Amino acid sequence: QGEHHASPQAAAQQSPDALLALDKIRLESHLREALESKLLEVRLQPILDIHAKRVAGFEALTRWTHPERGPVSPADFIALAEETSLIVPVGDYVLHEVCGALRGIATPPGSPQPFIALNVSGRQLDDPGLLDRFLTVLRAHEVSPAQLKVEITESLVLDYAQVSRIIERCHGAGMKVALDDFGTGYSNLGHLHKLQFDTLKMDQGFIRQMHDPRCLAIVRAVVGMADSLGCDIVAEGVETDEQLATLDSLGCKYAQGYLIGKPLPIAEAVALLR
Ligand code: C2E
Ligand code: MG
Ligand code: MG
Ligand code: MG
Repeated sequence: QGEHHASPQAAAQQSPDALLALDKIRLESHLREALESKLLEVRLQPILDIHAKRVAGFEALTRWTHPERGPVSPADFIALAEETSLIVPVGDYVLHEVCGALRGIATPPGSPQPFIALNVSGRQLDDPGLLDRFLTVLRAHEVSPAQLKVEITESLVLDYAQVSRIIERCHGAGMKVALDDFGTGYSNLGHLHKLQFDTLKMDQGFIRQMHDPRCLAIVRAVVGMADSLGCDIVAEGVETDEQLATLDSLGCKYAQGYLIGKPLPIAEAVALLR
């Protein structure tokens, strides 16, 4: 399925700084070309409602296959896009693809509408025009903002006032907001209660170590905390039946991971709902 990432930096690691900079410039222009010729692919990874045993929604994850280097990890090209402000057109492209996918999803009347969660990076959050552009694109595709969930990585939640304003504006527009990679960043619990996230996404590191009773205790506490805060909770990186059963027994409502499904081409993801 091509879910393996080769680091573009790996080869350049031993080269002198000048070469590295040159490499970056070359890679940047390749990324720009990829964007223009629509060579970036948005994939959708299913998110399971564990109890109802149905796909509740998806997370959009972007893929770039470089013509010579092969697949480039999003961790690398998103960072590159951030540095060069290419992240703005990349983000807009991802949203277009997501809206197109949402438009193609027809759910029978009365059944819950699936959502798509979209990762938003630091530069994008600093862009004051971001939400207005989001709303314009949603309107153009006739997609309800309620079907869009904005994912903000915990390590970006440094400026609480800024994040709080963003959450308010998203809610005002009818969009949902998730705190991504919960437990890995600067999880300042003293501030968490002030931020009205709709969803907490528990980082995959916790799920991987649930066999450790002390880690399991933390997962249990996080599930309980999310519940008390009125937040949905998604366990990330679920890879085994055992992990899924444990999460279910702890009352965790949603799961995402290779066990449920890898990030899929949009058409395959949409077909999964039928
Ligand atoms: P993330 O938002 O935390 O996304 C989850 C990552 O975990 C994805 O990595 C996904 O492929 C991976 N994953 C899902 N299930 C499993 C599993 O069962 N086991 C393991 N080992 N991994 C699993 P990916 O696609 O490489 O993306 C890495 C990060 O890059 C994302 O982390 C997100 O922060 C960022 N990213 C990806 N696409 C975009 C995008 O379109 N825009 C922005 N701004 N960031 C993006
Ligand atoms: Mg995410
Ligand atoms: Mg995550
Ligand atoms: Mg992550």
